[in-house]
Amino acid sequence: MLQNKITILISFLIVGITYNAQTPQDFGKEIVKTLASPSFFGRGYVNNGSQKTANYIENKFKEYGLKSFNNKYQQYFNINVNTFPTVVDLSIDGKKMITGKDFIVEPVSGSSKGKYTLLWIDSTNFPTIIEKMKSMRIGSSTAFVLDQKGIHNKDTLALFQEFKYYLSSLGPVVTLEDKKFTWSVGHQNAKHAIISVLRTKISKSNKEITLNIKNKFEENYTSSNVIGYVEGRCKKKYLVFSAHYDHLGMMGQDTYFPGANDNASGTAMLLYLAKYYSTHKPKYNIVFMSFGAEEAGILGSKYYTENPLFPLEKIKFLTNLDLAGTGDEGIKVVNGTIHKKEFKKLAKINLEKKYLQKVHFRGPAANSDHYWFTQKGVPAFFIYTLGGIKAYHDVFDKSETLPLTEFTDYSKLLIDFLDKL
Ligand SMILES: [Zn+2]
Repeated sequence: MLQNKITILISFLIVGITYNAQTPQDFGKEIVKTLASPSFFGRGYVNNGSQKTANYIENKFKEYGLKSFNNKYQQYFNINVNTFPTVVDLSIDGKKMITGKDFIVEPVSGSSKGKYTLLWIDSTNFPTIIEKMKSMRIGSSTAFVLDQKGIHNKDTLALFQEFKYYLSSLGPVVTLEDKKFTWSVGHQNAKHAIISVLRTKISKSNKEITLNIKNKFEENYTSSNVIGYVEGRCKKKYLVFSAHYDHLGMMGQDTYFPGANDNASGTAMLLYLAKYYSTHKPKYNIVFMSFGAEEAGILGSKYYTENPLFPLEKIKFLTNLDLAGTGDEGIKVVNGTIHKKEFKKLAKINLEKKYLQKVHFRGPAANSDHYWFTQKGVPAFFIYTLGGIKAYHDVFDKSETLPLTEFTDYSKLLIDFLDKL
C-alpha cells in the first residue's frame, strides 16, 4: 500500500517537473502539431474539421478554468461555403496530377466528370476567339485553357477574367499558375469545374484532360466562435486576445491544408496566454476569442461584433494574432499608425528586453479579425510575424517546417505589453 502511495507521489512529482519545464515554444509546438494534423482535416468544412477544432479549444478553455459568458463557450452562426468533400481528380493526356501540388480547384469551382478536348486560349487568339466561338461548335466535351501570359493591358486582363466565368458556364476551365497556389474559401459555385494547373505541368501540345471533380455547396453551414475569459482585479474593463482557429479544409478526401502558421500558430499563442493568465491573475478581465470562418471572409468576428457578449465599448484594447509561427524578421503591427501610444509602448518593451529583431508598423487593413472591431471603434492591433517560411494558403504550411523559433520571446512581449495597457 505504502509503496503504491510512494509510486503515485513520485509520478505526480515527475508530471509536475515536466509540466514546469515546458517552455512556451514547446507548448506552441505541441498545439500546432495537433491542430495541423490530418485528424483536424484542415479545420474547414469537410469531415466537420471546423467543429472538431472549436470543441478542442472549448475543452482547453475548460481545462484552464476559463469562465464563459451566459454559460456557453461557443457562439454559433451560419455561413454558405463551397466545399470539395469527395473526389478531386485530374489527368492530362493520361498522366495523373497531384492535388494541391500540380493543380488546385478554384474555390468557386463546380463539378465536372469526363474526358475533355483542350481548347487553348491565349494572347495569340484572344479576344478574336470570342467572335469565332459564335460559329465554332463547342461540344459538351470541350475544356478551355485560359493562358493569360503576355496579356498586359488592364482592360484586356479584366475581360479575360470575366471570360473565365462565362466559359465556366459552357464547360470546364483550366487556368495556369506560374508561381505558387494560394487557395481560399468560395461562397458560390460555377456550373462546371475551374482548375488551376502549374504551367510546368501542361502545354499546348497536350490534347485531352480527364476530370472527376465534385463540389458540394453547403448552405447554412454551422460554424462557431469559442470565447472564454479570465477575471481581472478590475472587473469593469476588458482586454481581448483574438485568433482565428479555422483554415481551408480539404480538397477531396486525400488532400488537406494544414494551416500550421495560418493560424494554428496564433491559436497556440492564444491558448498559451489563456493558460498563463489562468494562473497569473491579470489587472483587467482578459477575454480570449477564437474565431471561426476567418478564411471564409472574416465572418466569425463579423458575427461577433454584431452580436457581442458584453458591450464593445468596454474593450480597452484588442490584440489579434494571425500568423504567429515565424518572427525571424520581427513582427508587423497593423493599426500601428492609428494607435501610436500603444505602438510606442510595444516597440519600447521590445527594444529594452531585446525580444524580437524589430517591431514594424503599418496602417489599417481589412486582412483579419481585428477589422470589424476597428470599424466599430474598438482600439485594436493585428500582429503577424515576419520572415521564415513562405508557405501560405497552400499544402506546404505544415507543422514540420514551422519551428516557432521566436514563440517564447513573442509570448513574453505580449505579456509585458498587456501589463502596460
Ligand atoms: Zn489567417
